[in-house]
Amino acid sequence: MNPSRIQDRISNEILSTADRIENHFGRLAGIGGQPDGSISRIAWTDEESAAIAYVRSEGESFGLEGRYDPIGNLVMSLPGMHRQRVLVGSHLDSVPHGGNYDGAAGVVAGLEALRMLVDQAEELPAGVDLVVWRGEEHTYNAVYKGSSAAFGCSETHILHNVYGGVSLRDAIVQQGFDPSYIDECRPSFDDVYIESIRGYLELHIEQGVRLERERHDLGIVTSIAGDRRFLVVLEGRFDHSGATPMGTTYRNDSNLALAHILTRIDALAESRRRGGEEFTQTVGIINADPEIDRKFPSVHGNSVTKVSGMAYFTLDIMSSSDEFMDAYAAEVLREIWRTAKEFGVKASIEQTDGAPGLGSLDADIRAKLGDAADRLGYSNAELTSGAGHDAVVVGLAERSNGRIPVGMLFVPCRKGISHAREEHAEPDHIAKGADVLRDVLSSLARSVEGG
Ligand SMILES: [Zn+2]
Repeated sequence: MNPSRIQDRISNEILSTADRIENHFGRLAGIGGQPDGSISRIAWTDEESAAIAYVRSEGESFGLEGRYDPIGNLVMSLPGMHRQRVLVGSHLDSVPHGGNYDGAAGVVAGLEALRMLVDQAEELPAGVDLVVWRGEEHTYNAVYKGSSAAFGCSETHILHNVYGGVSLRDAIVQQGFDPSYIDECRPSFDDVYIESIRGYLELHIEQGVRLERERHDLGIVTSIAGDRRFLVVLEGRFDHSGATPMGTTYRNDSNLALAHILTRIDALAESRRRGGEEFTQTVGIINADPEIDRKFPSVHGNSVTKVSGMAYFTLDIMSSSDEFMDAYAAEVLREIWRTAKEFGVKASIEQTDGAPGLGSLDADIRAKLGDAADRLGYSNAELTSGAGHDAVVVGLAERSNGRIPVGMLFVPCRKGISHAREEHAEPDHIAKGADVLRDVLSSLARSVEGG
């Protein structure tokens, strides 16, 4: 075949994969779709289960074998018995009023990669599995819930956490699965399976603007951010706004202390960034969250004619270095206490989350992803992931035969928007990602000895 014919054949295959991908997203949009065009597929709800069941039936229609683990993660395998395997995975849950592509892009790309591999299954010396992790998003005040359960590294207390009036324990039971694996930190994947994993790949939308601005088809991820999240509560004193003189001698003004704290910790962040540290710091919520209000109802005592007696804000610090996050967070908390004291306000700080980062993804897999993208003619660039992903849990899982090598691929998403109804990724980009996944899964499976 001459080169242009080969090119034609490749682009035809890509086109049909892109069409199938578009069709999957049309179907998924109907599962958890909200009147405002957003998607709510919350962990262990009927919507998440329905989306996973859809992927299972699609996979089974072209020869994959599907099964649920005891907690409800879906594993779909190419046919054949193997002692070793490579995995590709992502999630189908969303944040409340999120988008249709976060997580789902990776599942759909993995599904289509396995479709392209199914004819070669007999020749591959290792198995290839698609995993759909349950509950990756931050709901029930926890992330990575399904993948953590798979490897036995859950935080046990999360079963008591409530979302939408239902505890996580009840939500898991209602979907027909067994929360005791989380209770007892017992891996919901069996040990033999965990030790058989030779590599893990995950495709995800970038959730940033770099690939789109630089017009790249794909991104090769070098590191993944973790987080340290805090709720800071400031208690001052409610006083009459006209009758109480200005100044800290007379006022213990919570909102004013909050404002000064925010500018000071922003200056602190700027100085660290100028020093070369890569991280983000975000205050997402100030005095306006129904869940937090329930815990601190006196925030409703604030009014136009009062000195503020109660304030709170959330603080989110993200970086791929756990060491940096811990040291930097300690500095930030000291600055908060110091400033609160200056304003005669009591600061109470609760750490609400602390997911680890992955400082460096597997060098061999990174090289394979880059080589495959180059060879297939897809422009690509290396970049860090500012958001967390299940790949962190897989990459940090403890097992007797060492860490699982992990690689991640990003596809551009429109204007970088994510966790919102405007979230969109082009089927063509996801198809190119699926093609690279196919190539690298096959290459990892072929590199296994005595599979
Ligand atoms: Zn995601």
